[in-house]
Amino acid sequence: MKIGIDLGGTNIAAGLVNRHGELTEVVSEKTPETQGKIIEVMVHLAKKLMACAPIGLVGIGVPGVLSADAKTVIHCPNADMMNTPLAQIMEEALKTSVYLGNDANAAGLAESHYGALKDEPNAAMFTLGTGVGGYLVVSGKVVTGAHGCAAEFGHTYVGPRHYDCGCGLNGCLETFSSLRGLQASVLKALNEGVESKVLAQAVKENKLDGKLILDRAKEGDPAAVIAFETMIFGLSIAIRNLMHLTDPAVIAFGGGLARAGDFLFDALREAVVPEQLAYPDIATPKFVGAQLGNDAGIIGATLLDRLV
Ligand SMILES: [Zn+2]
Repeated sequence: MKIGIDLGGTNIAAGLVNRHGELTEVVSEKTPETQGKIIEVMVHLAKKLMACAPIGLVGIGVPGVLSADAKTVIHCPNADMMNTPLAQIMEEALKTSVYLGNDANAAGLAESHYGALKDEPNAAMFTLGTGVGGYLVVSGKVVTGAHGCAAEFGHTYVGPRHYDCGCGLNGCLETFSSLRGLQASVLKALNEGVESKVLAQAVKENKLDGKLILDRAKEGDPAAVIAFETMIFGLSIAIRNLMHLTDPAVIAFGGGLARAGDFLFDALREAVVPEQLAYPDIATPKFVGAQLGNDAGIIGATLLDRLV
């Protein structure tokens, strides 16, 4: 058995995964605010699982940037970590091998081994959540880059935007096509006088979530439609660039916003048109939903040793 840990901004979830990639036990706790407490919780959850079965390794999916050798968390503001030698700290506490990886890569690895991207040597995944994560496989190899920060689709430039990204730049895909991007687009539309009683009420009640915005876009709500079209515009530019860079056969979409399913994929199929492509005769990639849902982060964390 292996242990996978998904270090999220809200929850830390850890699970036991068998050699078929099946999750047999999950434990979780709220993510504390400080680095020391976060590490304590991860050690505690892993030890709980270690009491259930002999463990081969522990993998941790981290929502941030890692060193090229994937042993140190260089930058992870959500988990209060900077230049933290997390692998070593965890190995000393747990007395077993610990592997780190970017959380989007963990989710992508799970899809490549057991889900929507199984047996696809040229594929990509966009994780559409609070931000936008990326995962890229080229000729059967996961692309991690010279410094461990490749395939950050969320921070690729797709066009000028009315607000700056969390990374400090302007024009990142994440500001168009994440939950934060959708919310910002709705607020801007409402401020400019676009009518939407339902969304204006949701803003007042602090209930403007991704599901509501996408459901309202389906209904033709003007502010939601603007937000959705902005999201599709950003993604279509990113996908077009990706096609010219790595020519993927399949692109999977995970994260909360991808639950919109065919509503999202149909709009993308319409937006990524041959006229925008240098080789219009070549088939566009298949757009599919990720299959493993929230479990992908934990299951994929147990595969992170394969990136080393
Ligand atoms: Zn950015």
